[in-house]
Amino acid sequence: MPYRKLIMANSDNRGSILIVDDETINLDILSEALDDDYDLMYATNGRDAIEAAQEALPDLILLDVMMPEMDGYQVCSLLKADAATADIPVIFLTGLSSSSDELKGLEVGAADYIAKPISVPIVRLRISNHMRLKKALTKLEMLSATDGLTEMANRRHLDERLERECNGSRKSVGKLSIILLDIDHFKDFNDTYGHQEGDECLVKVGRAISESVKRAKDLAARYGGEEFCCVLPDTTYEDATRIANRIRENVIALDIPNTGSSAEPIVTVSLGVVTIMPNGSVTPAQVIKMADDNLYAAKRAGRNRIVGEEMA
Ligand code: GH3
Ligand code: MG
Ligand code: MG
Repeated sequence: MPYRKLIMANSDNRGSILIVDDETINLDILSEALDDDYDLMYATNGRDAIEAAQEALPDLILLDVMMPEMDGYQVCSLLKADAATADIPVIFLTGLSSSSDELKGLEVGAADYIAKPISVPIVRLRISNHMRLKKALTKLEMLSATDGLTEMANRRHLDERLERECNGSRKSVGKLSIILLDIDHFKDFNDTYGHQEGDECLVKVGRAISESVKRAKDLAARYGGEEFCCVLPDTTYEDATRIANRIRENVIALDIPNTGSSAEPIVTVSLGVVTIMPNGSVTPAQVIKMADDNLYAAKRAGRNRIVGEEMA
C-alpha cells in the first residue's frame, strides 16, 4: 500500500482520521482496524503530518511518538500552536510507558494515549469514544455560533470574525468591506401581520442575504433584531456596493407585502457600506460605527437604498 500523503475526500458523515507513524506495519494494522468506519489518511513523518492536518483538517489524529527528525511531541506542539489545527484531538501511539512520557504528551496537548503493541479492539473503542466527543463539541460550537431563528451566523460569530479580519493577521492583502443592513419599517410589519409573520419575514430576508453573498470567505450574519451584517474580505468598495445592491434587489424580489409601511408597500432594506484597509489601524467597533452611520444616513434619505464610504 503506498503510504505517504494520501488525502481522501471527506465524503459522508464518517469521521476522518490522520494516522501518523514511520513504521508501515503499524499503519497496516491501524488501517485494517479502522478502514470500515472512517475515512483514513496517512503520513510517515512529522512534516507531512502537519501539512496533511492543515490541508484536510481531520476529525482526529493518531500520532506516533518515536519518529526520526521530528518526534510526536514536536508535531503535537506545532498542531496546537496553529489555530486551524489546535482543536483536532491528538491521540499518541507509544511504546513508551513511563509516567513522565505520559505527562509530557498530556502537557503538549494530547487527548489520550494508546499503548503499543496495538490492540485492535482497544484502539477501535478509544477512537469511537473520542470521535463521539469531537462530534458533540463540533455541534456545540456550531450551535453557539448560529442564530436560532434564521440559522445564519450570530453576533458572537460575527464579532470574532470581524476582530480577526480587522487586525490584519489574515494573510489577505485586499480591502475589507462591511455591509450593515436593517429592515425598513419592521415595527409596522409586526403591528400589521403579527410577530410570528415577522419571524418568518426575518428568515426569508436572511436567506435572501445569504444567497447574495456567495464566496466561501464571506460571512453573512444576523447582527440582532432586524439588522444583518456581511463581512467581505478582499472586496473593493465598488464590489461591496454591487453586492449591497444585489441584496437590496433580492429582498424586493421576495415581494413580501408590508402595507403598514409609510414608504414602499413591500418589505425593503436600507444598507450602510464601509471599506477599509485591514491593517490593524481601524478597530471592529469603528468599522461597525461607520457602517451604522451610513445605514442611518440611508434611512434618513428615504430607506430602500445604500449609503457607503471608503476610508482612505
Ligand atoms: P426603520 O425603518 O427606521 O428601521 O423602522 P423599524 O420599524 O424597522 O425600526 P424599529 O427599531 O422602530 O423597530 C424594529 C422592530 O423590529 C421592532 C421589533 O419588535 C422588531 N423585531 C426585532 N427583533 C425581532 C424578532 O426577532 N422577531 C420579530 N418578529 N420582530 C423583531
Ligand atoms: Mg428597521
Ligand atoms: Mg433596527
